[in-house]
Amino acid sequence: MKSDLTQEILELVRMTSTDLPAPVEKRLRAALEREEPGSAARSAMETIIKNVEMTRKNSTPICQDTGTPIFFVQYPSTYDAGALTEQIRAAVALATQKTYLRPNAVDSLSGKNTGNNLGDEYFPTIHLTQVEGDTLTVDLILKGGGCENVGAQYSLPDNRVKAGRDLEGVRKVVLDAVHRAQGEGCAPGFLGVAIGGDRGTSYAASKEVLLEDVDGANPDEALQELEKRITREANELGIGPMGFGGKATVLGTKIKSTYRLPASYFVSVSYMCWAYRRRKMTLTGDTVSYE
Ligand code: SF4
Repeated sequence: MKSDLTQEILELVRMTSTDLPAPVEKRLRAALEREEPGSAARSAMETIIKNVEMTRKNSTPICQDTGTPIFFVQYPSTYDAGALTEQIRAAVALATQKTYLRPNAVDSLSGKNTGNNLGDEYFPTIHLTQVEGDTLTVDLILKGGGCENVGAQYSLPDNRVKAGRDLEGVRKVVLDAVHRAQGEGCAPGFLGVAIGGDRGTSYAASKEVLLEDVDGANPDEALQELEKRITREANELGIGPMGFGGKATVLGTKIKSTYRLPASYFVSVSYMCWAYRRRKMTLTGDTVSYE
């Protein structure tokens, strides 16, 4: 068992920042084909695809905003959570030095940038869960600021959009969030939606669901249907790539339902831009793999 994973996590950060996963790229390419030749939407998609190809080749960041690093770690009892946290932080600092990440950790009050992406215990974000077995997994999402700014949380019922406490209400508020974003946060994007929880856990779950397989089906049939319907209807809003108008506004929706208090019914929407940077590292024994 490897005791220091700093270099392996550094590679995870490099891949996440510079090499968009194949299923995401496939959806971007399909979206390009749907836009009218000569349109601003098509030209935006062509620029995005060129950028994806170039950054992969050069190992440079896919976007200048390398976002908030959000780690989800599942570790066996043989690992020490404190040591893993330190190794993740060391890898983030190294990745910043190597310019895989832009220095993004800024003190909220003074505006001072730490220069290495290390802030307090909230930056980078690290979620640690101890699991059975002997496999360690580290998932990483780099969540851009622009798309984070257009995330939204609703407390149902929401009379403004006539959304009740049911899946129809969920549909209405998620589409409201997409409509209000108007392509800001760099459409076409992907939606992570959580139903339930308190305000904090709801938002966290809406990010965690973005780790799901892009092409995988939701095991809950009602949610699976809702995901498809939201994606289809979001693309009928005509917002299009970067808000230029067109067919591609949302390339996929993932919904997770969790428990809640009887008094609350939160719906949280995390909008993920086209630069859907997420990767997974798996370590079993001394064997490391990335996907
Ligand atoms: S929202 Fe995404 S694509 Fe847009 S600037 Fe931010 S990180 Fe880049």
